[in-house]
Amino acid sequence: AKDAGRNRFEYYKPEMNTKALQRLHLENALRSAIAENQLMVYCQPKVNVNSGAVVGLEALLRWKHPQLGFVSPAEFIPVAEESGLINEIGDWVLRQTALQQRLWQSHGYAIVPIAVNLSARQCGQKDLVEKIQTIVRDTGLPPQFIEFELTESMLMDMGVNCLELMNKLSSAGFSLALDDFGTGYSSLSRLKLLPVKTLKIDQSFVRDIATDENDEIIVNATAVLAHAMEMKVVAEGVETQQQLEFIRDLQCEEYQGYLFSRPVPPDEAEQFLRQD
Ligand code: C2E
Ligand code: CA
Ligand code: CA
Ligand code: CA
Repeated sequence: AKDAGRNRFEYYKPEMNTKALQRLHLENALRSAIAENQLMVYCQPKVNVNSGAVVGLEALLRWKHPQLGFVSPAEFIPVAEESGLINEIGDWVLRQTALQQRLWQSHGYAIVPIAVNLSARQCGQKDLVEKIQTIVRDTGLPPQFIEFELTESMLMDMGVNCLELMNKLSSAGFSLALDDFGTGYSSLSRLKLLPVKTLKIDQSFVRDIATDENDEIIVNATAVLAHAMEMKVVAEGVETQQQLEFIRDLQCEEYQGYLFSRPVPPDEAEQFLRQD
């Protein structure tokens, strides 16, 4: 049945065009995407707001389907989550990322930590930390070069299990960042307990920061909070020089965004890692 589903969406008819069917087609196509080499890991630099130096990278998954072209992660990550495919795909992303990092190290490139996203479904796996350790150990990369990004909303949904997971990852030598910060409602008392080094301010607060005073207030408050807990702040989605100036004035340490670079394939990301 699996194989029959695979090619179905080349013959798909307009009357089948319901959301559920589209999803099924996407799921079937995604199922074979790894084996057929359609997935790639792109990298986006994290940049120091003052020096302009590249101080980290984030690994972002890309799927190029032979007929559909690039499918947005916003579309296929939820499908991967619901179908459980995210577990297999996530393992693959981590292995690729660690292998790439090892390759850069052996070629003498500057070594900056590289962040990998973990979604809720992945974090629900009982043996996740052991599996992660095995994957990374097999590549020969020391764990301190990998950071994991977990979203703030996962904290609420998973509660104490999320804290336990974070503590295990941290004890294993990995760094942790809290992604999409500001979109969930973390309790401040719990935030203090987390072994997290970085808060990533969601791009929805950065977009209108130059014109919306509320956003400015939120980013400022987040930075004050983060610094009081000895965390650093990364602003996401910085597209303009003006946004950069705002987040710099608000004491954010790092930023990511199209202003500096879009996510790019590893061979293009290399240019950011050259040492003089
Ligand atoms: P995210 O982790 O919050 O990643 C940031 C998203 O913002 C990325 O979208 C990135 O391309 C985009 N972005 C970066 N700079 C800018 C900018 O200046 N302006 C705008 N408008 N957008 C910017 P992308 O790559 O489409 O990924 C979307 C989401 O899919 C990610 O959000 C993450 O939640 C998920 N995702 C991507 N790759 C993976 C993965 O390997 N594993 C898991 N579990 N989730 C992933
Ligand atoms: Ca992220
Ligand atoms: Ca984010
Ligand atoms: Ca997000």
